Amino acid sequence: MPDQPILLVHGGAWAIPDDAVEAHTFGVRSALLAGYALLERGATAVDAVEAAVAVLEDDEAFDAGRGSFLTRDGKVQLDALLMDGGVTGTMRAGGVACVERLRNPIHAARLVLEKSPHVYFVGRDAENFAAEHGMPLIDNADLVLDRERKRLAVAQHKERAGLPDRTFSGVQETDKEAPGLASHDTEYDASSHDTVGAVALDAGGNVAAATSTGGTLNKAPGRVGDSSLIGCGCYADNLSAAVSLTGWGEPIMKLVLGKWAVDRVLAGDAPDAAAEAAIAYLFRRLGGHGGIILLGPDGRYGLAHNTPRMAWGVCNQRGVQVGIKA
Ligand code: ASP
Repeated sequence: MPDQPILLVHGGAWAIPDDAVEAHTFGVRSALLAGYALLERGATAVDAVEAAVAVLEDDEAFDAGRGSFLTRDGKVQLDALLMDGGVTGTMRAGGVACVERLRNPIHAARLVLEKSPHVYFVGRDAENFAAEHGMPLIDNADLVLDRERKRLAVAQHKERAGLPDRTFSGVQETDKEAPGLASHDTEYDASSHDTVGAVALDAGGNVAAATSTGGTLNKAPGRVGDSSLIGCGCYADNLSAAVSLTGWGEPIMKLVLGKWAVDRVLAGDAPDAAAEAAIAYLFRRLGGHGGIILLGPDGRYGLAHNTPRMAWGVCNQRGVQVGIKA
């Protein structure tokens, strides 16, 4: 008997500092409780991952929705994908990218999944599609926090001065060179990955996945990362597995890493082995870093990361488990 329903959530993988751990675990727990309550009432895996991710988008601790990292011109630009592993044998997906006026892009992704013959919309037309289906359009400024303006200023200062960002490639470079910055601020840099995601298996045996992000700090306007691209930062197929990733988007995209991971499950790997293999491959092939949650239709799951920490949680009939996996 598969372990179902089950919901897994992540809230990014990076060097989450000690003073941010509580906010991350609180957010992950809240998302699990919201999504799992739906699953217990018989809702679908798609409903559960959408609800869980919406909670994380509403939580300013994460790089999704309000409080996201800023583009180099000081705006929030959001990407999200929702994917249904196939209730009726036809996989469904809905994605949006570069949206600036939606508080919850994952709800727009749901509208695309449900209401459109297409699977992906970008920019103004994505916003207009969402508005036509009842979502309010807000000012971009409502999504921007002072905290993020300051973080952007730090990143741009370092960029102009030719100073390195911290990396996860072995040595943790320090931020000593950034003068006049409080240590708390320097903890947050371009190596922060606070993208959020969820994967679920419902009582009907269907899997779904959702990923939502503000992308990378100081990104060029119009840049789209892995998170909302099918098979990159998110994927779900009842025949293999559901997956959500976080991390440095460009290498994840080049490797189509989400699909790579679920294909390993399809080929017979256990999800925990496939998750480890995917992150090892990301680093070995392109020096990338990030984290992954992976859930098979039999209820087995895995998570892995090659960053110092990862915010994650799982909820099933045995209860809730939340951690900062180190
Ligand atoms: N993967 C995201 C992106 O590249 C960033 C992240 O996970 O924090 O857009």
